[in-house]
Amino acid sequence: MLLTKWQTTLKAMVEFTGKGLHSGRFVRMLVEPAPIHTGIVFFRADQSLVDLVPARANFVSTSQLCTTLGTGAQSVSTIEHLMAAFAGMGIQNARVIVDGPELPIMDGSSLAFVRAFLKAGLRVSDAPAKAYRLLKPLVVEDGDKSLRLNPSSRQAIKCSILFRTKIIGSQSIEYFEGLESFLSIADARTFCHLSDVEAMRHHGLALGGGLENAIVVTEDSILNEQGLRRPDEFVCHKLLDLIGDFALLGSPLLADISAHKSGHALHARCLQILLSQKEQYLEEFYPDVEVDKVVHPWIQESPRYPALSYA
Ligand SMILES: [Zn+2]
Repeated sequence: MLLTKWQTTLKAMVEFTGKGLHSGRFVRMLVEPAPIHTGIVFFRADQSLVDLVPARANFVSTSQLCTTLGTGAQSVSTIEHLMAAFAGMGIQNARVIVDGPELPIMDGSSLAFVRAFLKAGLRVSDAPAKAYRLLKPLVVEDGDKSLRLNPSSRQAIKCSILFRTKIIGSQSIEYFEGLESFLSIADARTFCHLSDVEAMRHHGLALGGGLENAIVVTEDSILNEQGLRRPDEFVCHKLLDLIGDFALLGSPLLADISAHKSGHALHARCLQILLSQKEQYLEEFYPDVEVDKVVHPWIQESPRYPALSYA
């Protein structure tokens, strides 16, 4: 999550339409600017607009295949790619209004959200933005999956995956917090194995999934004709998921994070430990990091970010 000195929101409302990855349902989503101290909050336009679901780890209800906040009629799922866009761009306050149970999957990455936010522009307030320092190490494991957090004066994430499928194999990436590093991975798409697609559909999942919003992998190839956006797109997407899930802490965390074969469930467990034992693990502080207010229009034009100019 991008460290910023001041709380930031969007300058204007942005609208997205598309189908949910798992529900297959077509939805309309509005992302609106919000006052300071609002945080990121979700509303279901098709339900009572009064009950809002805050984007906080203690509201996570399920983390199977995607991250879901809230329960029943007041739940929203597959929030992680939108949350990654907020976190990676340092947007702390926004209202998200969606007329269905799942956010639109767009192209399976954070690209559409990032592009729209850059176009709308960011409004920087004069209210300080909070951040957390990690006070002691934390290890969360599940079989061969692990998430290790160590105190640090910076925000670094080492992410690695290991798949038997040859085309994915073993991949790793090291990421240091910053707007430019986030923009360089924001277009990494979600992926699934062709053999898992049928099983997921049998369970009523991935109903909206297709080659336009996921990389579909067979043993030694991918079905998407355009190929990969980068050779390590798989691990970059896992990193994007981690950034989106950790945004549910509500503020950026200074720590060295090392994630191996990690996923939504392990992220949720880790955040629950941090928040339930907050005084042991987290110390609040106010970072003195000015984000360049004119950097955003510049980045939009920059040939250094070809990902932002996809048709
Ligand atoms: Zn994802």
